[in-house]
This record gives sequence, structure tokens and C-alpha cells, in this order.
Amino acid sequence: MRPTDRFPELWICARRGLEGQSLSRLSSVYYYSKQATPCDPGGAEYEPAGWIRIFREPSRMPQNPFHPAEDATMVETCWLAHEYGHHLSKTRGTRTPEYEAALGVFSQFRAPPHGVEVRCPTKAEQALILSEESLAWSNGYSVLKDLRVTEWTEFEDECERSLSNYRTTFQNMEKPDWGRVCADNAPASSEAPLEAADGTR
Ligand SMILES: [Zn+2]
Repeated sequence: MRPTDRFPELWICARRGLEGQSLSRLSSVYYYSKQATPCDPGGAEYEPAGWIRIFREPSRMPQNPFHPAEDATMVETCWLAHEYGHHLSKTRGTRTPEYEAALGVFSQFRAPPHGVEVRCPTKAEQALILSEESLAWSNGYSVLKDLRVTEWTEFEDECERSLSNYRTTFQNMEKPDWGRVCADNAPASSEAPLEAADGTR
């Protein structure tokens, strides 16, 4: 069983986790239209206030963005599992205030708000971010496993790609010309599987 085979079940599982047993009128898991660029090819995003959105090109937006699409891709499935993994980390208390603070430093350094002084995340802050990212993948894996997924190659590839992308970003951040590197190459503020070749919160 591949992850995509269980996409609708994963979607419902994430909704129940976010909304409780009596689901909200409007799905808190939904598609969001966003034009992909080479630097920001899409992905998904978890907001601790209680929603997950999956980015799609405007031309690929489903008719109803609040229902799991029939043409769900492997990348979307992996990212939904991963973002839900972040939610599980929050509810289990492993998403710590220290991590949130480190993420704030990272996000601001990646896309400096106007007039705000920013700094590169320290090695300790980078480690906190990588650790939460890794945990979200491992939580996502457990969810899919409970949904009887048995084929893991694509999921593991996506996980590895994402974590290595974070490591590369951290390395680049420490270079003096990061400002320009950032503008040209960094993912946008949301989480993205960089260059499907090469995803915040
Ligand atoms: Zn993540």
C-alpha cells in the first residue's frame, strides 16, 4: 500500500486531529492556490492555530478546495502527513517554546520584515529546528503506518530531500552574501519541498 492509496483517510485523520470528532463545517485541511516558482515549488504549511494547507498551482486547484482531490500526488500526501506530524508534536508537547523562538529567528532571517533587525539562527537554534522537522516526519510516518501504508520509498525520499534542504539552507545562511542568496534561492516563508529536485512551520 502506497501513501497516495490512503490519501483520503489521511486527510480525515488530520481533520479529526485538528478539529476533534465532530468535524467543523469547513475543513481545516484545504488546498490553497499558489503559483509555484523554481525557488518555491509548492508544498504545504501547518499553522498551530489549527489548519493545514496544501499548495497547488492555480490551474490544478480542485473544484472544492475543502475536499481531498482525486488526483492527489505523492508529494502532497507526504507533506500532509508531515504537516500533521507537526500538529501531533504540538499536541504532545514536543513542539517547545524554544523551538517556536528558533523558528521565529529563522523565518525572519529568511525573509526579513521591513525595518526589523535580523540575525542568523545559532547552531543550537538550527538543531532545534532540524529536530522538530525530523520529528514531524517520524510522526507522519507513524500515522501512515497506522493507515496500513507499507511502501515507504517515496516517503523516505521526500523526508530526506526536505531535511537535507534545511541543512543546505542553514549552511548557506552563514555565508556573508546570504541576503542575496536568500532572495534568489530560499523557500518562501512557507514550507516547501525545494525544487522537487532538490517546506514553515
Ligand atoms: Zn516541517
